[in-house]
Amino acid sequence: MSPRIFCIAFLFISSLVLSTTDVVAQAEEPTLRAGAAAVDITPPIGVSLDGVISKNGPVTGIHDRLFARALVLDDGQERIAICVNDLCMVERRYFDRAKNIVNQKTGFAMNRILMTSTHTHAAPRVPYGRVGKLDDEYYDTLVKQIAQAVIQAQENLKPARIGWGSFDAGKYAACRRFLAKKGSVSLNPFGVAGDQIKSVSGRSQHVIQPAAPIDPQCSILSVQHLDGTPLAILGNMSIHYCGGYQKGQISADYFGSYARHLAKKLKKHNTHPPFVGMLSNGTSGNIGAVIKQDRRNYAAFEWIEESGKQFADQTLKAIENLDHKPDLKLEILEQELKLKVRRPDTDRLAWAQTILANPQQKTAHRWSKVYANEAIELSKYPKTESIIIQAIRIGDLGIVGLPCEVFTETGLAIKRQSPFAATFSMELANGSSGYLPTAEQHLLGGYETWPARSSYLEIDAETKIRQTALKLLQQLNH
Ligand SMILES: [Zn+2]
Repeated sequence: MSPRIFCIAFLFISSLVLSTTDVVAQAEEPTLRAGAAAVDITPPIGVSLDGVISKNGPVTGIHDRLFARALVLDDGQERIAICVNDLCMVERRYFDRAKNIVNQKTGFAMNRILMTSTHTHAAPRVPYGRVGKLDDEYYDTLVKQIAQAVIQAQENLKPARIGWGSFDAGKYAACRRFLAKKGSVSLNPFGVAGDQIKSVSGRSQHVIQPAAPIDPQCSILSVQHLDGTPLAILGNMSIHYCGGYQKGQISADYFGSYARHLAKKLKKHNTHPPFVGMLSNGTSGNIGAVIKQDRRNYAAFEWIEESGKQFADQTLKAIENLDHKPDLKLEILEQELKLKVRRPDTDRLAWAQTILANPQQKTAHRWSKVYANEAIELSKYPKTESIIIQAIRIGDLGIVGLPCEVFTETGLAIKRQSPFAATFSMELANGSSGYLPTAEQHLLGGYETWPARSSYLEIDAETKIRQTALKLLQQLNH
């Protein structure tokens, strides 16, 4: 063989070798990519703040800032986004506006985006009752900022690997509805007897037991760069909130503290773009605040800070044992459901008008006037409301997005009946729509069931929503 022919032959063979390794490399190359971003959504002073009873807004100061935290995942065929917002709750039309901005700017399909609120009460409810000019301006800015979080997370897409798991955090959770003996609960605000739920005290001798189980599971989705450095962590816990605020002060509650502590602990990795931690709310409509683990008297915001840290520490410990995979299949399904609204009938409306026409008169319940006003407000609602149910599949993990403040029974049933190895649900996803008691809990009554702007979907709404979520999970499991 002449040197020249040898040379060509060598080149030919080596290029063959090269192209085979190329093919192998391509086949093995991970297709999964992930990006995360956090955008500040703190409202200016003066905006209406949700707060808890007697501690609501307007905003007078900022304890800690609020963020829209987004995670975008892409497997080369499907792209999905999860955006967790430090807000009390957001009505569907505002999330739809934010999704629409993302779609207009990047072409990302709106039905591939899950947006939710953590349910911190030291943040705005969107909208809050009668909207003022300041509130309206904030909401306009807010929808752009939420959209920006998803857009930035897309821009940050990098090859990634994902693991998931959970730890038991049951010691922090308790049902806040107590089942009481028949006939022991006084008339409800509408003057009707028969409720069997006490909302506040578990000490009454008439209390039999908590009215529902808790969901002790804190679920974790861990997203890492291919070298194992952390990219994002998404937690999910079914506890209402932490509370312990100061009037007028903005705070992301323990959801924000969780994110801050994760970022602090993982600082040594110094990744770019920076790591994003987030804690989503599971199904906690009937669950109380994060339970203190000692008898200490905590100052305002102190237990928020500490409990978020404890959840972050336990999350990091659980992540050490997770198997992260770079080749997971992603899928998302969305379905719209039209549900009836529990508008007042003519009798209830007449009752409300009588109560409001005689403000001096003694009422059956100290909240009768409040609920009379709510009846009038509900009578203006449309007869039906359209809501969105979403189900996501990440490998063998299922994630469900439900609107409403969902009860634990619903979340537990979805976990039990899901076809996936692990599943968790996020409440207040893609809208708010009030509390979502099960049909059984509606029979027992109590605050969360009383018809008002805080609870207005039909009695069968929970059954329909749960069955739809499970059907979507089944469809994803093929
Ligand atoms: Zn609440």
